[in-house]
Amino acid sequence: MAQSIPAKAEAPEIISRNPATGEEIGRAPLTMPEEVARAVDRARGAQPLWANKSFRDRGRVILRARKTILKELDEIALLISRETGKPASEAVAMEMAGSLDLMQYFARRTESLLQRERISIGLYNWLGRTSYLVYKPIGVVGIISPWNFPWATPLDEVVMALMAGNAVVLKPSELTPLTGLKIKEVLDRAGLPEGLLEVVTGDGSTGAALMGAGVDKVMFTGSVATGKRVAEAAANYLIPVVLELGGKDAMIVLEDANIENAARGAIWGAFANCGQSCAAVERCYVHESIAQKFTDAVVAETKRLIVGTRTPRPHVSEPGATATGSQAQLEPKRAIRAGGAPALPVYDIGSMSSEQQLRIVERHVYEATANGAKALTGGERTADADGPFFPPTVLTNVNHEMAVMREETFGPVLPIMSFKTDDEAVRLANDSDYGLTASVWTSDLSRGKRIAEQIEAGTVTINEVLYTHSIAQTPWSGVKQSGFGSTHGRAGLLELVNAQHIHINRFPFMPDVWWFSYTPSAGKLFRSLARRFASGSIVQTLLVLPQMIRRWRERRS
Ligand code: NAD
Repeated sequence: MAQSIPAKAEAPEIISRNPATGEEIGRAPLTMPEEVARAVDRARGAQPLWANKSFRDRGRVILRARKTILKELDEIALLISRETGKPASEAVAMEMAGSLDLMQYFARRTESLLQRERISIGLYNWLGRTSYLVYKPIGVVGIISPWNFPWATPLDEVVMALMAGNAVVLKPSELTPLTGLKIKEVLDRAGLPEGLLEVVTGDGSTGAALMGAGVDKVMFTGSVATGKRVAEAAANYLIPVVLELGGKDAMIVLEDANIENAARGAIWGAFANCGQSCAAVERCYVHESIAQKFTDAVVAETKRLIVGTRTPRPHVSEPGATATGSQAQLEPKRAIRAGGAPALPVYDIGSMSSEQQLRIVERHVYEATANGAKALTGGERTADADGPFFPPTVLTNVNHEMAVMREETFGPVLPIMSFKTDDEAVRLANDSDYGLTASVWTSDLSRGKRIAEQIEAGTVTINEVLYTHSIAQTPWSGVKQSGFGSTHGRAGLLELVNAQHIHINRFPFMPDVWWFSYTPSAGKLFRSLARRFASGSIVQTLLVLPQMIRRWRERRS
């Protein structure tokens, strides 16, 4: 776990540790408010030149960085793995692959996505008016990110912000500062002009300092509690903010679902990233007629998962997993792939990212089991592990009074409840303060869509789970306590620009009929405009034309 330490020479640092082993990986500065302000100043100084570059030039830098990432894929994956405790292969699958796709997409498509746009303004066009939008960079964007996807979450936003012509000041999580610094290193090596991406490592105090350092917008991803503090600061400094917050995502399995596949989807959705995904399956609702079969399949699949209770060090890989149970003890052993590159360690579930997070999981599971829930597998922390390991846990006999069904658990826990009707399933899914993602599993797509559209969540997938953050083209956003605003897709790109409205009167010689002076005949005309022009009907508007012509004449005389 990272922590602040007093520095020898007045330069406080945070220590990055591998949560699985406790070993120190490296150190990064605990950036003080004055330095945060200087970073924002440097970014502001660099931004105008960058904004003047063509999209193609900006895209070239991003594509060069992409090449470097591809070349150093395993090395970066191991860094992510060591800072978070997740399997390196999972870092590639869940973080790096999606970001590589997003990089090529926005490097090539931002120009067309931000093309100027004509707006149809109805009957005003008849008065010789036209309107269009131009999208301009915001300036300096602050990005504050969490530890659970320390590569993809900030990198995706950094790339989109840069492609839109902004400079960025990134504040990565205090648990994963080295991954944040790696993002900067890769982009700097690709030729990103100095100052355009500043990384201020540190804890919440550094994040708070960034809020007040003069940035033009903040993209915040993190917990609801911090999100509220960030929203408060944004109100004080009057800057716009996008909040991507927590989730308590529901999975609904209808009686006509493919049970085996839904069970596999449930355990990946619940246990990938050790359950520490904002879009993880945190509540599973299964039709009562298949509940037993589905639960048996979930438990059987869960027991096959290999928990890497020791995270192998880089270049010492391919642990020989001997046990087949859910808590296999892994012995790292040396393995070199054909071609000489070190293979990535092989296991399914890593450690949790911090002891603090594990305690939340313990509290939810213990409170549930004390109130009648049954842990069919897992249920207690792995006793003999070096770090905060919690085995994948499947709970039944749960209800909506329990914290495990109401609060974000953010750990490898899958509570399963049954329902009788579609309406009941929707009601249960919506009985939550959160609304990030949800999923519906069925072989009847029309029914699936009908249910999906009734669920209060930013994204609902049908026969799919969790992964859509990796799709560059689709928006990522939450409703209710899961936040507001978007990242990804065109909607996310539009968060990173100011849409400027340009309005043109092509008859510059004609005063508007609603200008001064407000004579009695003008008053009559205004009433007709309100009744007829404002109706949107061409016929009705034609009826006002004589009055308008009279008014123009009256103004000229
Ligand atoms: P967190 O809220 O504790 O911290 C997030 C970031 O905010 C960190 O960089 C932290 O240093 C910074 N911070 C803390 N106090 C601050 C302050 N007062 N002002 C400004 N910044 C401050 O969250 P976490 O524990 O790092 O991440 C886990 C949470 O993130 C979970 O709730 C998860 O659901 C959520 N999350 C959401 C999404 C999404 O897209 N909706 C994605 C990933 C994670």
